[in-house]
Amino acid sequence: MTTTPLSPADDLRGLCGGRVHLPGDPGYDAARTPWNLAVDQRPAAVAVPHSAEEVAEVVRAAAAAGLRVAPQSSGHGAGPLGERGLEDVVLVRLNELTGVTVDPGARVARVLGGTLWQEVIDASAPHGLTALHGSSPDVAVAGYVLGGGLSFYGRRHGLATNSLRAVELVTADGALVRASADENAELFWAVRGGSGNFGVAVAFEVELLPYAEVYAGMLLWDRERAPAVVRAWAAWTADLPESVTTSLRVMSFPPLPDLPPFLSGRRIVVIDGAVLEDDDRAAELLAPLRALEPEMDTFARIPSAGLVHVHMDPPAPVPAVADHAVLAALPEEAVAAYLAEVGPGSDTSLLFAELRHLGGALGRPAENGGVASHLEGGYALFCCAMAPFPAAAAQGRADALAACAALAPWTTGTRVTNFTETVADVSSMYGDRWERLRAVKAAVDPAGRFVGHHPVG
Ligand SMILES: Cc1cc2nc3c(=O)[nH]c(=O)nc-3n(C[C@H](O)[C@H](O)[C@H](O)COP(=O)(O)OP(=O)(O)OC[C@H]3O[C@@H](n4cnc5c(N)ncnc54)[C@H](O)[C@@H]3O)c2cc1C
Repeated sequence: MTTTPLSPADDLRGLCGGRVHLPGDPGYDAARTPWNLAVDQRPAAVAVPHSAEEVAEVVRAAAAAGLRVAPQSSGHGAGPLGERGLEDVVLVRLNELTGVTVDPGARVARVLGGTLWQEVIDASAPHGLTALHGSSPDVAVAGYVLGGGLSFYGRRHGLATNSLRAVELVTADGALVRASADENAELFWAVRGGSGNFGVAVAFEVELLPYAEVYAGMLLWDRERAPAVVRAWAAWTADLPESVTTSLRVMSFPPLPDLPPFLSGRRIVVIDGAVLEDDDRAAELLAPLRALEPEMDTFARIPSAGLVHVHMDPPAPVPAVADHAVLAALPEEAVAAYLAEVGPGSDTSLLFAELRHLGGALGRPAENGGVASHLEGGYALFCCAMAPFPAAAAQGRADALAACAALAPWTTGTRVTNFTETVADVSSMYGDRWERLRAVKAAVDPAGRFVGHHPVG
């Protein structure tokens, strides 16, 4: 009789109330599957803790077994992690360690490690509050906020990572550590942008925003109108108050019965976002875009809880590939290059080529901010394709790379960490803060126990 030799990860069996899954176990495939279904991550084990204590047990057991640890919440940002060898890595999925408690007086939410933004929005709305969430309800607070966090409130209120008052982490020795401006301040600096390289975040204290309602929505045209619309948006965004944060996308949808008719089988151009002004001023600001007579115009005053749905992000996991760049500006030549890639006549495979307007508070270093407290540049370009099978992934990746390459003359060389799928040199994301970040890593995780999706050291 032959027996299969035990792997080091077998030592973790029985932890987390039995929610540790090894290759070959019945629960392994479901537990290792991230939100981005194009990513085939195959770690040594997947642990699904329900408490900070269970996280600490897993980290200690992984260390004793000579394994590394990668925190993951929703798996929206799984792309870069999946590209790395995970044979010696325990994936700690935080998706069952969730919950939100709002202190309305202090305007702060305590958010557990794997909580999705939708839950924070739902808990805050009854108090007339909201948060610096992004465009998607099922992105987790953790990866988003530890990677920066671009919100439609962003040009007025800055990156979401600056709204963190404290982070509670399980560090490499299995200790539960609180990092804030007053405690473990250097770790607090590093984790706000350095993401999962320093420990498993099991709770956050997040400042909330006092918006019960917001003027928000989207404008939609057929792609044939893209030359006029993109030019108008480029000119419009060049001279806007910080109260306005929008995105422009050229989008291409396959004919699918699940899609609403205004999207199914269509190529369109969409502008959406938020205007933090009263109705009259918002209408005045939007007038140059409305003059282009969109076929749909949903901009109106809505409950702030509705803002997370205006971008129409996919409501469930999908397979996707993407590439990204930051542009300094959008002069006529850049607009022409963008239109040549995805405008009328192009047969691009991209689901969308998005330009997010940066600047305002997003562009200013925050007082007492972390390693990624602001973004240099005028626009974030994010090009994304669906990748349901390998040939589609290859074509989509090629088109995403080509679109970003076409805009290369206007790129800054900087990056939005949250939008970065592949980067050969992680240090390029941190500029002159790289050595300080590595020093914190060496101090808090000298054995390199934690594997972030963009590894530091
Ligand atoms: C549809 C869609 C919409 C998006 N919209 C926006 C947007 O509007 N603005 C924006 O800024 N970004 C946006 N993003 C990017 C998104 O913020 C990143 O992909 C982010 O990494 C997702 O965080 P997550 O925790 O959900 O993902 P995960 O893949 O679970 O995490 C990504 C990384 O974050 C770290 N991490 C996650 N959880 C923990 C934890 N508990 N402790 C320590 N480290 C952890 C790890 O390094 C992990 O590899 C969007 C992405 C998608 C797919």
